[in-house]
Order: sequence, then C-alpha cells, then structure tokens
Amino acid sequence: MRIPFDNSYAALPDGFSTPLNPTPVKTPQVLAFNDGLAKVLGIEVGDLAEVAQVFSGNQIPNGAAPLAQLYAGHQFGNFNPQLGDGRAILLGEVIDKNGTRRDIQLKGSGPTPYSRSGDGRAWVGPVLREYVVSEAMHALGIPTTRALAAVSTGEPIFREQGALPGAILTRVAQSHLRVGTFQVFAHRGQTENLKTLTDYAIKRHYPDAKDAMDLLRAVCAAQAELVAAWMSVGFIHGVMNTDNCSIAGETIDYGPCAFMDAFHSGRVFSSIDQQGRYAFGNQPNIVIWNMAQLATSLLQQMDDKDAAVEQATEIVHAMPAQVEAAWLRRFAPKIGISDPQPDDVALIENLLNLMQTDGADFTNTFRALATATPQDQFTNRDAFQGWAEIWQQRIAKEPDPPGLMNATNPAVIPRNHRVEQMIEAAVAGDMAPFERLMKALSTPFNGTDTDLHRPPTQSEIVPATFCGT
Ligand code: AMP
Ligand code: MG
Repeated sequence: MRIPFDNSYAALPDGFSTPLNPTPVKTPQVLAFNDGLAKVLGIEVGDLAEVAQVFSGNQIPNGAAPLAQLYAGHQFGNFNPQLGDGRAILLGEVIDKNGTRRDIQLKGSGPTPYSRSGDGRAWVGPVLREYVVSEAMHALGIPTTRALAAVSTGEPIFREQGALPGAILTRVAQSHLRVGTFQVFAHRGQTENLKTLTDYAIKRHYPDAKDAMDLLRAVCAAQAELVAAWMSVGFIHGVMNTDNCSIAGETIDYGPCAFMDAFHSGRVFSSIDQQGRYAFGNQPNIVIWNMAQLATSLLQQMDDKDAAVEQATEIVHAMPAQVEAAWLRRFAPKIGISDPQPDDVALIENLLNLMQTDGADFTNTFRALATATPQDQFTNRDAFQGWAEIWQQRIAKEPDPPGLMNATNPAVIPRNHRVEQMIEAAVAGDMAPFERLMKALSTPFNGTDTDLHRPPTQSEIVPATFCGT
C-alpha cells in the first residue's frame, strides 16, 4: 500500500507528542473500508489482507511517523491537566486531492503513555457507530472527521457488559488539534510551546489569521457554524468536553452521540451526562463556554495582557449572536425561507415548541413540511394548523419552498435504534445492516429505503447511549 505521507506534527518539539507504534493485534479483518475517501487521500490500496494489516496497526506503511498526541481538557466542566491520545495513534498526514492536509489516525490501537488506567482499545460497537455517524454527517454537509476503515482485531475487549470483540477505527481529520491541546501548554506555563502551537494552528487551518486573537475569532466562527449545523439535524454530540472540541471546527470524537427522534430541547442520551450539561438545547452555551476556555489559554502568550483580555472578551461575547445567526441560516431554509429575517426566529421556535409539546419526530416533521400532509406528524393537528397558516403567509412569495426544504431536511438520519441493530448484527458477523445504513445515509436528501425513515417503535427505542470506550 502506498500512502503519500507528508508529516508536520511529528516535526513539532518533543513536548507535543510521544513517538510510538500501535500494538499489533492477533487476526485483523476488514469490517469496512471507504474506497471513495481513500481515493481523495491519494492512497493506493492493495488487497484486503493488506488493508487489514495496515489499518490494524500491524504493518506500518512507509513514510508514517506514528505518535500519540498530548492534550488536556475540561471533562464535564472539571479540568483534567493531562489527557492525550490514550487509545489513538496518529500514523501521519497526507495532502488530499483538494490540497487539504489530513491526519490519518488509528483509534483503538493499544496503550500509550496517556492511557492512564485504560486498555487503549475499542470494541466493534463504538467503532462502527463512529463510522456510520461520521460518514452520515459528512453526507449531510456538516464538517466532521471521516471514517476510512474499520478493522476487527480478533481479540476480546473487556467492558462492563463482558467480553466484546475488539476493533480499530481509522479516522481522518483536518487535524486532531483540540481546545485541550492549547490548554495543556497554558496550564503548564509552557509559553514557547503555546506560541508554536498557535503558529501551527494558524498556518494549518486559518492562514489569514494574523495572531492568537485572530485565531480565536476564526475558531469561534467555525464552532458557531458547527453547533448550528448539529442542531439543524437534531444531533446531540453527548460529550462536548474541551478535549473533544476541534480547532478546525469539525465534529470529532463521536461517543455516546445520537440523532433525536421525538423532539425535546432538553434531550440527553449519554448515560454519563447526569446533569444534562450536554443536552440538545444546551449545546450553544457549551460551545461558547469551550471558546472561553480557548481564549483563556491563548491569552497566556500575549505581551499586552490587558489589551488582549479586552479583545478576547469581546470575541467571546460576540458568540451568542453569532450562534443565533448561524442557527437562523440553518433553520430558515428548513421551513422554506431563503431570505431569513429576525422575525423568523419566533416562527421557527413556535414550530419547535409545538413539536416538543406533541413529541413530534424531528426529522420526519421537517421533511413532511414539503408534502401535502405535514399535520399528520402531530396528534394536535389544530395547533399545527394554526402555525401553518402564519407560515404559509410568510413563504407565499418564496420562489421554491419545497425545493429548499427537500434540500435541507434529510429524509434519513442514523436513527439510534438502527445503529444499535446494526451493531448487534455486526457482532454476530452480519454486516448487511451496516451496508444498508451506509447506502441510505450516503444520499440523505432523497431517501428511497423508507423503512429507515420510520421512528422507533416502543420496543425499539434506545433510551441511552454509552460512552465510546
Ligand atoms: P473520550 O471520552 O473518548 O474523548 O476519551 C477521553 C480520554 O480518555 C482521552 O484521552 C482518551 O484517549 C482516553 N480513553 C478513552 N478510552 C480509553 C481506553 N479504552 N484506553 C485508554 N484511554 C482511553
Ligand atoms: Mg476525546
């Protein structure tokens, strides 16, 4: 296999990462491989046996410079001074066909100096969940890491549920720089490293930025767009810790994430999120909180601290309006509006309130707006009709509401119960549900596999998701 590596992170100073090879596994077998993405990355693939060897970490391809990255992070609001890649190894970077530098990382590839008490491994369930959900996110047009390969290891992993089949995900990202990467150097008072990292992040992601405050501004803008995009498809990330918050503005670290079925702004899936910190409707607040942590870290390198504090405060304070603007830009076309006005916020919120009261399905309700019978999504049809009259007046002069709505309201999303059914089948050796989901999710705006559009029945409902480990 030829991977055109062009590594830059490995050339950063010693304190940034630890060079380290993946731990070999017993009998790697390919569960899934993303040929389309491999082409974009310029990877020349051999046979499946070789794919299994390379993307299990058993065979290190020429030009790779494997390493585990250091970072810190706030987990559920509490600062953890040292995290780092505890079960991931960056193989290296390539410049893809579009000229974008991309990390190729193995996740579940064995212990590292940052593993703490963890085993450095992952099991098939979270690996395939991340594969399906990240690729679905990409097809929805939302910035995200991608999935290149999923390989089973032939080794058991021991978790609360008992022995589970091990697997490794190959993840592709614009980078794995996180808010936590800045936090670790700021916390340690390593100003030189902090400056080096700032320059590196600017050069790699925001080449127009002139200094740390410009970088902050750019990341805030990207994160505001991202959270609005998530909300527009009913996505709940689940673990928005600062170590899971990408500087490039991509969705990263899919753990106990989920797309909502019935809409409720307080919805939480993650079994470990007892306080609802990362509930659906709280995601904008958390993004802003995370950006405040980034600001705090970046400030440590500024010469004129007072001026910088003032500037950083202004940037972070501008975020609520930024998120709201992004939210309106994402939601307005979902109800057929091409030129959003401030008043439209209330119109959209009124619909969401009706959906919440009624327990209406998020995806299907929006999708039904372009049909003749959207009221069928509600038990209280009169309440919906009241809203619909005002809505019809608003969109009367719009050129093509159905076209706009069908291009922005997906017919199919990776519903939780389907993802769980897919995992159960995969563990039993049946990859057909995985293939079926991947096929449908690749064209989410014109779904033909209508059984995948259906919300879960009472017995299919998955009330909670468990952490990615
Ligand atoms: P996550 O919640 O998946 O973002 O992980 C938080 C931190 O725990 C990261 O530093 C991970 O690398 C680490 N971690 C998670 N699972 C494991 C594991 N099984 N073994 C070692 N480290 C882990
Ligand atoms: Mg993480």
